Amino acid sequence: MLPAPCPVDESQRQQALDNLDVLDTPAEIHLDTLVRLTRELFEVESVLISLVDHDRQWFKARIGLDAAETPRDISFCGHAVAARNPLIVEDALKDPRFADNPLVIGAPFIRFYAGQPLYSSDNQPIGTLCMLHAEPRKLSQLERFRLRDLATLAEGYLQLRSVSQQAHKLRQAVNREQRKALIDPLTQLWNRTALSQLFPRELTTAQSAGLTLGLIYGDLDHFKLINDQFGHAGGDQVLWESSRRMSAALRPDDLLVRLGGEEFVALVSVHHAKELGHIAERMRKAIGDAPMAVAKQTKQMTISLGTALLLAGESQSELLDRADRALYLAKNQGRNRTVHAEPAT
Ligand code: GH3
Ligand code: MG
Ligand code: MG
Repeated sequence: MLPAPCPVDESQRQQALDNLDVLDTPAEIHLDTLVRLTRELFEVESVLISLVDHDRQWFKARIGLDAAETPRDISFCGHAVAARNPLIVEDALKDPRFADNPLVIGAPFIRFYAGQPLYSSDNQPIGTLCMLHAEPRKLSQLERFRLRDLATLAEGYLQLRSVSQQAHKLRQAVNREQRKALIDPLTQLWNRTALSQLFPRELTTAQSAGLTLGLIYGDLDHFKLINDQFGHAGGDQVLWESSRRMSAALRPDDLLVRLGGEEFVALVSVHHAKELGHIAERMRKAIGDAPMAVAKQTKQMTISLGTALLLAGESQSELLDRADRALYLAKNQGRNRTVHAEPAT
């Protein structure tokens, strides 16, 4: 196996990646959508937006691969980045650079790889849009152009993202090292600790915009049955897909958290309870509108939700408790519904 050569201007390259401030951030719907469409278009097993960091490649978006990162020295993307060129490996077993690579001789048993470098606005290759498949493949000229076009979209998104308001806010709230401890590795959403840490910032943002903070507490219905029927890995697949669907139902500034198990919280700034209810219903429909793929089958899932609007002087845990009690009512009233906590409850 040949590890990827080190790019000549590695320190500038790393700096360009760091400046984007995208490493160890939660998944984002636009890039999730892009990798999903790429997978459908090319009919491959996995598609990644891989960012080549010091000693690892970290996946900002991924579909079809469980790992959130892999070591850089065995990465295919490292080669594409160092060469500043698309890398297409039609059959890894026939390529001396990769034939005995642990990712080839072991899981995910890569045979086909195609990676298109992604550049920062100062033209440094920061990673790739890449696809993996466990059987050899070829790419036609047209397919190569398509991959390049999709990479252009991913690159544009990453570049624009770094100058957007959202990223700016994120930077102010937590730095990258802190962020690592705030992301749930399974779903790539914020975790419970992040909720406590980011709550004050969300409150200030809501108040300064003249809005009220609302909390939506969701719990997948009969999730245990999925584990019983499809095993833990099947359950994890449903948690991943549910996270993507709920993110898609939310607005860019809303905060989606995996509290633990099959429980999720969204923090949203709203004008009134009715608006909060609409958002919760969008989340409910996102889960229930179409069956989810689990272990080569499909399964109809539903979610129950409790919502609460922050009251004057109320703490984060009091707000969470009220939403949890509303969720309990939603479960008792037959599940697959939203119940709003009236201030008196
Ligand atoms: P209800 O409709 O009342 O919410 O029923 P439920 O089956 O969804 O709820 P219950 O609390 O009985 O089961 C939740 C299950 O979630 C039990 C636990 O084993 C499973 N679980 C918790 N964390 C994970 C995880 O990270 N992955 C998987 N696959 N399962 C998990
Ligand atoms: Mg639960
Ligand atoms: Mg449940």
